[in-house]
Amino acid sequence: MPTDVLTADRLAADLPTRWLGRPAHVFDSLPSTNTCWLEQARQDAAEGTLAVADVQTAGKGRLGRVWQSPPGAGLLFSLLFRPAPPITPGQVMMAVVGVVDGLAAHLGVAPRLKWPNDILLDGAKLAGLLGESTTGDDGQLVVVIGCGLNVNLDPADFPPPPLGGTPATSLLVALGRPVERVPLLYALLLGIETRYDALRAGQSPYADWRRLCATLGQAVTAQGVDGVIEGVAEDVAEDGSLLVRQADGTLVSVAAGDVTLRRTAARG
Ligand code: ATP
Repeated sequence: MPTDVLTADRLAADLPTRWLGRPAHVFDSLPSTNTCWLEQARQDAAEGTLAVADVQTAGKGRLGRVWQSPPGAGLLFSLLFRPAPPITPGQVMMAVVGVVDGLAAHLGVAPRLKWPNDILLDGAKLAGLLGESTTGDDGQLVVVIGCGLNVNLDPADFPPPPLGGTPATSLLVALGRPVERVPLLYALLLGIETRYDALRAGQSPYADWRRLCATLGQAVTAQGVDGVIEGVAEDVAEDGSLLVRQADGTLVSVAAGDVTLRRTAARG
């Protein structure tokens, strides 16, 4: 796909957003787009600044896990925000829902979510988001939100799913055709910008995030440092936690930062 080249000029040419993605920095390769902004945050990178990389040599998932994507096939980007403190769960929720909005608007697909921050298409993992924060030299809060989205990966590019974990998919696999990355990135940025503006105006993304959550109703096993919780995922709370109903009837709140979630294998 010769036209599918990411350059800062190409990105800036028709960027539809008012402030998000301005300026945009495009890298052939970075260890991690999130780490790039966490380091830059100590300097004066403006709110909305975008980093996009064709490949990451140390792409990050939650809990120190790795996000893998071959060069040129995915969209790997991070956005820097400078919200008024405190950090809130809505800051990552708005980005997750914004990416879903962008995918729906641009491609007519209807993604769902795997709690807390994975985007599913046809029940398989299309994208993962990761929110991290730091304090700038000026003492201001900096929130960095990264997204890895499988655009033109083919099945040979997917990492093997962990035992009981979610298999991967890409837009190429789901739609049966390659998708050009720059117009797609425009749609995602527009989706996120709209949600962030709404959040700043007091509109929480929680209700939409909850409605999209495909994990609800599933039998799950949450593995955390404090042990394992098994039960049925009954709801998500406004603070981003998952409420799991255990076999003895008790409802346990599981915090997003702490656990690996797997669907519980059927026993028989
Ligand atoms: P899991 O899906 O294993 O429960 P998670 O929801 O915490 O993990 P992340 O930490 O966001 O997900 O992503 C890291 C995990 O995603 C890796 O452990 C790997 O299993 C999987 N993964 C890595 N690269 C990709 C990719 N390109 N597409 C889909 N899944 C990936």
